[in-house]
Amino acid sequence: MQARLIRKVLLLLVPGLIAWPWLTQEDAGAWGFFGHKRINRMACFTLPPAMFGFYKRHIDFISDHAVDPDRRRYSDPREAPRHYIDIDHYVKGAASEAQSDDPFWEVPPEWNKAVQKYTEDTLQAYGIVPWHIQVVYNRLINAFQRGDVDRILYYSADLGHYIADAHVPLHTTENYNGQMTNQVGIHAFWESRIPELSADAEYDHLVGRATYIDDPLTAAWNAVRASHAAVDSVLGFERALNERYPDDRKYVFEDRGRGALRFPSQEFTRAYEDAMGGMVERRMNASIITLGGFWYSAWVNAGQPDLDRFEQREVSDSLKKVLAAEEEQLKMAREAMGRPEPNE
Ligand SMILES: [Zn+2]
Repeated sequence: MQARLIRKVLLLLVPGLIAWPWLTQEDAGAWGFFGHKRINRMACFTLPPAMFGFYKRHIDFISDHAVDPDRRRYSDPREAPRHYIDIDHYVKGAASEAQSDDPFWEVPPEWNKAVQKYTEDTLQAYGIVPWHIQVVYNRLINAFQRGDVDRILYYSADLGHYIADAHVPLHTTENYNGQMTNQVGIHAFWESRIPELSADAEYDHLVGRATYIDDPLTAAWNAVRASHAAVDSVLGFERALNERYPDDRKYVFEDRGRGALRFPSQEFTRAYEDAMGGMVERRMNASIITLGGFWYSAWVNAGQPDLDRFEQREVSDSLKKVLAAEEEQLKMAREAMGRPEPNE
């Protein structure tokens, strides 16, 4: 179990660095820099007028710090499991007398009940994203109540990250990088390469207004459930296309400052997206509207404080220090491992 967790930490270690499939699993990362930043940014535009001014003022912070939780993995061993849940682990060898084959039936949605059934160690080993979303959501409510601008921004950005991760199908399966089906690299292909190639030119993120979320834990589980329902398509369509495409049409070489690396070609990427019927765009948009809903609900539950009257308009020096220290730890960890900065 320990080795498995270490492998997973390594897989998700360098977010946004897209290299497929020559670089190993270590280089995949959730939604990449591009996708995470885009989701946090666009979610600001779903907010009602009473919130929009505040979020607009801080939109660069909220978007720039969308990837901080991935960076924290370097320095905090507790961080990695917050980004995924290998829900299919819980129905391994299913169809036995005592167990159904529906993991969402097997795993109790409430943390305490899940701990009772499986132990906390097991939950941590296979990922805790839906529960962690609830934790960060509650911290955000608290920050709104205290009028703590730094913490509002910090948790708003963090919440965006975990909600976006919960919307990625491959964050809900043990076969998170296609390693069980000979499709290593599909993780970064789906969540980094596709948005990078397509989102600017083609995606439409007009997702409407954020709505109030009664039950955040259920909303988090719904995101995971919808993601997991798409896992078969994510893997199956790639496998089918792979058989039809010769290598010279499937790959291109691009120079990302470390010599030429092999990436899925525009043509192959397009064919994959078409096969999936625009799934990446839909999951991205679902992340955006869900995130807006979480921010909005946290603010409502905090008593709808007047955000425009919070005196402090900028991020404080103390938060800057915290962030700078995280950055420093990240650098040291990278240096210790002999890894370069990823492309952003
Ligand atoms: Zn993540």
